[in-house]
Amino acid sequence: MKKVFLSVAAATLALSTALAQEPAKEYPTPPRMSPEMTEFWTPQPPIVTPAPASNITAPPSDAIVLLGEGINKFVSARDGSPIRWNFENGILTCVPRGGMIKTTEAFGDCQLHVEWSAPTEVKGESQGRGNSGVFLADGNYEVQVLDTYQNETYINGAAGSIYKQSAPLVNPIRKPGEWNTYDIIYNAPVFREEDGKLLRPGSITVLFNGVLVQNNYQLRGTTEYIGHPRTVVHGKGTIQLQDHSNPVKFRNIWIREL
Ligand code: MG
Repeated sequence: MKKVFLSVAAATLALSTALAQEPAKEYPTPPRMSPEMTEFWTPQPPIVTPAPASNITAPPSDAIVLLGEGINKFVSARDGSPIRWNFENGILTCVPRGGMIKTTEAFGDCQLHVEWSAPTEVKGESQGRGNSGVFLADGNYEVQVLDTYQNETYINGAAGSIYKQSAPLVNPIRKPGEWNTYDIIYNAPVFREEDGKLLRPGSITVLFNGVLVQNNYQLRGTTEYIGHPRTVVHGKGTIQLQDHSNPVKFRNIWIREL
């Protein structure tokens, strides 16, 4: 019996000695980081010629010019017929009851530059003064155009608002007759293909005369005059300009698809 006990003890000792001598398991060691490891060189961004410094609102080289010397990129929104607005020397003026106009092409995610000027004959108040609008996605979302120079209105209907959804952060408007700029960045909502479920809401950023007035606003749905925003499944859509019976002027409209 004593012999058996001794052999078990010897075996245990031998095993533990063997375990103790087994080399420690080794794992890979990440290489030491160097500055170059987080510096990526490809793909290089395409070279785009920006507007000249003396005219920074001119279209960059990769933009589609929607309104420049010509007006062939717009048609009547209702039936696609030639527009019934006035176009002269690169300036497009809304003719009251001429109807909404739309681009001939449809766009999704984009950067859109628009210049507009409120009528010099200051008439009306609140929503009745220098009202127009830049509509995205076939009229689903309106960035409001309105003469809010010394003219108060409901804040979510002011110039630079996402109409009836989001008031502008500030009011950087110029006087009637002077040119205002909108630089709009639009990311279209994403819908699931099978059933149209909204996967990601659309968003709009607006710089108004270079001042941020909409900071990546997440759209709650369509622009509705009466009632709440609705979720409407859509893809690419036209850019539209509103006829709100005021002779608002537009010039230099260009777009970059994203
Ligand atoms: Mg409007």
